[in-house]
Amino acid sequence: MDVKLEAFSPLEEAEVKRNVFFSTLEQLKGWARSNSLWPMTFGLACCAIEMMGVGGAHYDVDRFGSFFRTSPRQSDVMIVSGTVTKKMAPIVRRLYDQMPEPKWVIAMGSCATAGGPYVNSYSVVKGVDQVVPVDVYIPGCPPNPAALIYGINKLKEKIRYEATTGKRVR
Ligand code: SF4
Repeated sequence: MDVKLEAFSPLEEAEVKRNVFFSTLEQLKGWARSNSLWPMTFGLACCAIEMMGVGGAHYDVDRFGSFFRTSPRQSDVMIVSGTVTKKMAPIVRRLYDQMPEPKWVIAMGSCATAGGPYVNSYSVVKGVDQVVPVDVYIPGCPPNPAALIYGINKLKEKIRYEATTGKRVR
C-alpha cells in the first residue's frame, strides 16, 4: 500500500517505508489463510496416489504450510482427486457442507474436472463442479504432484486476491 507521509521529512519517510508494513486486516487474514491451507484427504481413485505423493519427503507440501487433515471440520480446502460417481456425489457435498467457512475446492485430474475417461459412463458425474463450487482445476490423467503444488499455489494467489478486492471469485 502506497501511503503519503506528509508529516515526515523525506529521510524519515524513507525510513518509515523501509521499516513499517501497511496493510488492512482483511489482507492480513488473506495472507495468513493462504499460507496455512489444510486440505482434507479426499482420494476417490488413481489421482489420489499422486495427491498422496505431495505429502511425502520428495515433494513435501508441508513446507508451504499445507497439512492434510482427516476431518472436514479441521479443513479449509477440499482436494477432489479421482472419479466422482453419482453414488459418491451426495457424500462429497455433505463433507463440503461440514467444512467451516472460508473454504475452497481444488478439482484434481480430468475425472474430477469433467468426468475424464468415464465421461460417457452412466454412473459418473461429469465434473465435481456440479456438486460443489470449484476454485482451481488441475488438468491431467493423472496430474503429477508438482502440478498439484502448482494448483495449491494458484489457490493461494486467488485467496490473497480475494482478500484484497473483497470479492469471492469462482
Ligand atoms: S483422471 Fe485419470 S488418473 Fe485421475 S482418477 Fe481419472 S482415470 Fe484415474
